[in-house]
Amino acid sequence: MKLGGTSVGGADRIEAAASLVASRLDEGPFVVVSAMAGVTDTLLALSRAAREGRAEEVRAALQEIVARHREAIDALGLGAGATAALQEEVAREAARLESLATGVGLLGELSARTSDAICAAGELLSSALVAAALERRGVAAVRVDPRDWMATDGTHGAALPDEAALARNAAARLLPERAAGRVVVTGGFVGAGPDGAATTLGRGGSDFSAALLGAALRDAGADVSAIEIWTDVDGILTSDPRIVAGARPVPLVGYAEAAELAFFGAKVLHPATIRPAVARGIPVRVRNTFRPGAAGTTIRAEAPGEGVRALAMRTGVAALFVGSPRMLLAHGFAARVFSVFERRGVAVDVIATSEVSISITVDARAPIALLVRDLEELGEVSVLADLAVVSVVGRRLRSTPRVAARVFGALGDLNVVLISQGASETNLTFVVEAKDGPEALRRLHRELFEKEAA
Ligand code: ASP
Ligand code: MG
Repeated sequence: MKLGGTSVGGADRIEAAASLVASRLDEGPFVVVSAMAGVTDTLLALSRAAREGRAEEVRAALQEIVARHREAIDALGLGAGATAALQEEVAREAARLESLATGVGLLGELSARTSDAICAAGELLSSALVAAALERRGVAAVRVDPRDWMATDGTHGAALPDEAALARNAAARLLPERAAGRVVVTGGFVGAGPDGAATTLGRGGSDFSAALLGAALRDAGADVSAIEIWTDVDGILTSDPRIVAGARPVPLVGYAEAAELAFFGAKVLHPATIRPAVARGIPVRVRNTFRPGAAGTTIRAEAPGEGVRALAMRTGVAALFVGSPRMLLAHGFAARVFSVFERRGVAVDVIATSEVSISITVDARAPIALLVRDLEELGEVSVLADLAVVSVVGRRLRSTPRVAARVFGALGDLNVVLISQGASETNLTFVVEAKDGPEALRRLHRELFEKEAA
């Protein structure tokens, strides 16, 4: 069970999370927690302020972190001994952060290694609080320092796990705790490099930690029924609920679909982070701590069924059109066009071709003027900015009858700039002007999800 930042964001949320874990003891859960919501941001702000010698800001950040944890500890209603022990731990972490900040300030330099040492504080503290809240409910719990099991390489800020070492550590350090009847609570995001120094897995890394933990337990021979990502939304939704009022959770999606959805704008979780679990056939469930009764979304390597599962949209997209009558049947034209993007280090996104032109979308922040200059040597170039890529994601879309007809029928009078279908069985993608994007999503959602009960 991975508890995200908002799920441990204050004493009441920690209480709710502990009660959730306590209700699942028969399943032998392991618990991975994020830092309290906002704490990692504050730690990063503290690091930058220290580097730039802004002592006042360092003090304010430090005070904020101490106050957040102090308040939560007091409100948890722990026994006197547990409260004192936790408050002392907060004071120790604060002192450690203060001396790190002083060092950074003196040097005027912030290495990724030191930044990791500072950032680690968030998860070290939140895991102690959650373990204490479990203990208060009479649940035997032990906080395990992530540096004791999350073995990584030395790439600070974006460390890569050593999965063989993780399996060994799960067997030696984690499974014995459960065998002794204790619930392990550990911090996500943080690890230890080959030299023992704290590393971090990158922002949002606690999901990755949870998937790696599940994978390591499985590799160590344990039976891992699922990874649960407990967050503040109902799972992966059929569309963005801020745009489409009728959006609802998708019960089951395949890994490839989840990847397409994430790429095309759904921000619930980054699929790469759950790959270690999915690769071992361990399902990943996204669930809402604010509505624990809701089923959430389950992601599996392959989800059964076919047809449309969800819609996603990404804005901030521009399209380049490269055309030339000379292109007619000219071999090598496409290669020359794409080599321009390669040279400029720009990722191409949606591609469509005709006999005489190639259309390519890119992130609007790409160096478009430079691309245009290079492409003009190959043909006539035009650019459309302010576009949105809309993606219809599902399974076996090409073989599902009438998907394209229903999609383009539903769009009605909205102007479609370009279409890409068939490259993958999991998406049908088209591009519209950004101003039409929300309406396109709403029309599609009505047609594909609200018309029939299916
Ligand atoms: N606390 C870390 C972050 O904010 C990791 C996480 O929450 O997953 O990026
Ligand atoms: Mg988080």
